[in-house]
Amino acid sequence: MKDRESLKLLTECRICPRNCGIDRYQETGVCGQGAGIQAARASLHMWEEPCISGERGSGTVFFTGCSMGCVFCQNRTISGRSQERIRSSHSSDTSVEVSNERLADIFLQLQEQGAHNINLVTPTHFIPQIAIAIDKAKQQKLNIPVVYNTSSYEKTESLKQLYGLIDIYLPDLKFMDPVLSQKYAKAQDYFQYASDAIEEMVRQIPRAAFDEEGMMEKGVIVRHMMLPDCYQDSKNVIRYLYERYHNQIYISIMNQYTPMPGLEDYPELKRRIGKREYDRLIDFALKLGVENGFIQEGNTALESFIPEFNGEGIRDKGNV
Ligand code: SF4
Repeated sequence: MKDRESLKLLTECRICPRNCGIDRYQETGVCGQGAGIQAARASLHMWEEPCISGERGSGTVFFTGCSMGCVFCQNRTISGRSQERIRSSHSSDTSVEVSNERLADIFLQLQEQGAHNINLVTPTHFIPQIAIAIDKAKQQKLNIPVVYNTSSYEKTESLKQLYGLIDIYLPDLKFMDPVLSQKYAKAQDYFQYASDAIEEMVRQIPRAAFDEEGMMEKGVIVRHMMLPDCYQDSKNVIRYLYERYHNQIYISIMNQYTPMPGLEDYPELKRRIGKREYDRLIDFALKLGVENGFIQEGNTALESFIPEFNGEGIRDKGNV
């Protein structure tokens, strides 16, 4: 799609399943974002799966806003709508607006710093702008893999714009049960969209490939973070993924859930995941036959794993 044509999608935005239909040059939709790209941090990040972080780190760009808006979001200081961000006790609203050209520069700077890859975190609502920036960066010799790290609340037609630009998809599959996705993200149709989105990702990248150091060059890793009191749904998610894809994809089962402030209406979410319930889910996955997987060990549920969103790596002389 030509640049101008793809940016036109922002004038009546239906990029994600929220289908706001608004002109993002004039107002913001559910994702809380207008037409300008906003990001809060670009840095080397060590806390992804080992084949993504490696020794030197993943070149992570954290975008501001989110079309999903889970109540338990671990990155809520930047993901919530702007008013919620401002109200948040953590927030100093440090996101910075950047042009497509500046975003391409940020990718190249991360490559220069030694990043194993470029890792786009919560990119859905900026797909048209990001596609342009990747294209520009590739013309300027960006040659490390590009990772698309998403909630999976995506439309397949939007993901098709990324064909040939993304090397590794890193989607979540958060819920199967529409009652849970409605309760925690006001997205009753989450599984329907997310499962179709993952199908499209696997269609684009049907086989995984690794370099000689074991770093992923191509592939799909689907993440599932366990939530308190959602054990049955977690089992259903793992079973669905395995029965649909067997070992064509990698499954990352995460226990890092960290209760954030402001969960008064969701008392069940105010605890971490216990070792025993996590081990039970891992045993279930192993018994099913999952071989291509990642698990988390040690105390991952610490807020210190949540990076500081202070505009690091995003600001340049023009927008300090
Ligand atoms: S990307 Fe944002 S504005 Fe566009 S449809 Fe989704 S939530 Fe609405």
